Amino acid sequence: MAARAESQNGMKKVALVFVLAVFVPSLVLAWLAVRSLRDQQFLLERQQSLLYQGVADALAKEIQDLVADYQRSFIEKATAMLRDHQPQDLTRTFDETLRKEWPPAQVGFVVTLSGNILCPRPQGPEAQTFLTCNSRFLANRESAEVYWSPKGAALNAPNELKEQSPVSSLKRSESVGNSSQYDSLKNSWLNNNKFQSRAVLPQQAYAKDEQLQSKAGPQSKQVTQEIGNISKVAPSETEFRQLIGEANDGKLARFVDDKLNLLFWYRPPREPQLVFGAQLALPRLIAALQEVMGQFEPALRDQICVAVLDDKAKPAVKSVVGFKANWKRPFVATEIGEELPHWEAAVYLMDPNALARSANTIKWTLGLLISALVLAIGIGSWLIVADLNRHLTIARQKTDFVSNVSHELKTPLTSIRMFSELLAEGRVANADRQRSYLNIITAETARLTRLINNVLDFARMDRGEKKYQFQKCDLTQVVRETVQSYRPQLEANGFQVECQIPDATVWVNGDHDALSQVIVNLLSNAEKYSDSRKEIALDFSRQNSPLPYVEIKIKDRGIGVPKDSAEKIFEQFYRAHDSLNSGIQGSGLGLTLARQIARAHGGEVVYERREGGGSCFSLRLPALAGSLQNPKTE
Ligand code: ADP
Repeated sequence: MAARAESQNGMKKVALVFVLAVFVPSLVLAWLAVRSLRDQQFLLERQQSLLYQGVADALAKEIQDLVADYQRSFIEKATAMLRDHQPQDLTRTFDETLRKEWPPAQVGFVVTLSGNILCPRPQGPEAQTFLTCNSRFLANRESAEVYWSPKGAALNAPNELKEQSPVSSLKRSESVGNSSQYDSLKNSWLNNNKFQSRAVLPQQAYAKDEQLQSKAGPQSKQVTQEIGNISKVAPSETEFRQLIGEANDGKLARFVDDKLNLLFWYRPPREPQLVFGAQLALPRLIAALQEVMGQFEPALRDQICVAVLDDKAKPAVKSVVGFKANWKRPFVATEIGEELPHWEAAVYLMDPNALARSANTIKWTLGLLISALVLAIGIGSWLIVADLNRHLTIARQKTDFVSNVSHELKTPLTSIRMFSELLAEGRVANADRQRSYLNIITAETARLTRLINNVLDFARMDRGEKKYQFQKCDLTQVVRETVQSYRPQLEANGFQVECQIPDATVWVNGDHDALSQVIVNLLSNAEKYSDSRKEIALDFSRQNSPLPYVEIKIKDRGIGVPKDSAEKIFEQFYRAHDSLNSGIQGSGLGLTLARQIARAHGGEVVYERREGGGSCFSLRLPALAGSLQNPKTE
């Protein structure tokens, strides 16, 4: 009992370790993987947004460089003009000469530091418009909101915004995800009312905003909407004189009548009182941008459309002619900076559904893989549990077997000892009783021999060492002899034995002793498991189809085999009627051996319920061709 408990505990421990170390972690992993499936589209979008953000940033940088080139070329031109002309003459003719010699200029202007506008004269529509829009500002008579990056000192725009140029909207959406940065940026933006709002809200930021909104509830909606519209490029209210300071050149942008004016200015060291400037012709700039766009990222052309959006979120130029989109919703966008305030380099997906499609494909593939994994884990676990169970059962049966065999050995030994002592001490005078005692001793010895043979044979078979002496033998002969030797014991115990063995020779290729052992085991079971009706019948028959075989049926009228044990009774150590409940002793090996021997002969042992109560065990063996010969007389 202790051994059984120990083996059960051992198995339970193994099962527990398996569940804790393999099964649970695998299920947790599978669960995590399933959860990550939901984020596939988001992850893909992030990957793509990182890639395309790089494209937008690079385009913004190129546009900055382009504006810087214009500025440089203006300074060179102004320097050359100053070299070639007298300053006094140039102050009058600067506008016409510049426009002639430097086509990007829409208007050229000259203004003294004290605010005297020397050029252009109010001739021609462009000069007039320019003067209407800018004269008060250039003459230092009013301050205006301008976008510029002073050399050296920062103006009133927050540092963190100044440092990020080109301003990455992805960076912005990431900071929206981080609550402390998000709060500080949000506050700094919201507190500064002077910031002009942005017209464009990239999808990435929008998606983040929506996530935030769904988490934070309806109040956050307004806040995130405001954040979406805030530009990082901030104007500063300043006068022209103050803006120039001590610098020799610079650029500034301002919105006049909702139109962007981009001005370059230059103060020649020889004439520091004079400021020469030019207003850049925007159509010219846009034409140059178109050229930049033509060389841009040809590899990505079938996936994305790159556009430069003006301050009203209208595409000034785009990489794919005829491409249409909701321009206010780029996939990612980058503000260009003070050069072109509120202009953006924006990236649009040519096929926005492609992302969802590939996310779906990944989802399905991963989903299938995870399902296969879970299935494999499930099947593996089931197999392991089933195997553990089997081992548990065998371990239990083995311990039962040891106690059963011990019992089976003890009972005949006790009777042998008792009767032999009685006879040895001469305490039995009656000759009939003496014979009866001797018969009992013989029967018990035979029982012991059978048991020990069974155990030894089983051990040999278990180790694969059982050897059979196959030879042509007459099966009727084997059965007849076996029944004859067993009949006295049966009859002594009150059994009626009915035997129908044909008077013929039935040849089989078999091991005489092994076949006899099968018959004995079946007869001994019929004896053991018979109750009040002590009737045993043995039928010997020969069939020819499909192949010639013989069948020996051993039938009893005993307690029968429970329905659910009909197949299990052939398993090793299995006992349908255990000694405790039935009082019938056994080792659980008799039928196992009988079946193994039959199978080794190419035959089988089967059980069937007997009509009218009891059991019927049939031994079937292949007969040798033409085996039924020479009818005999018994
Ligand atoms: P045992 O030593 O227990 O008899 P066996 O392998 O010979 O071992 O038989 C296995 C089990 O099959 C028995 O324990 C018993 O429950 C059942 N069994 C075998 N023969 C008979 C029979 N003739 N009638 C009823 N039950 C039987």
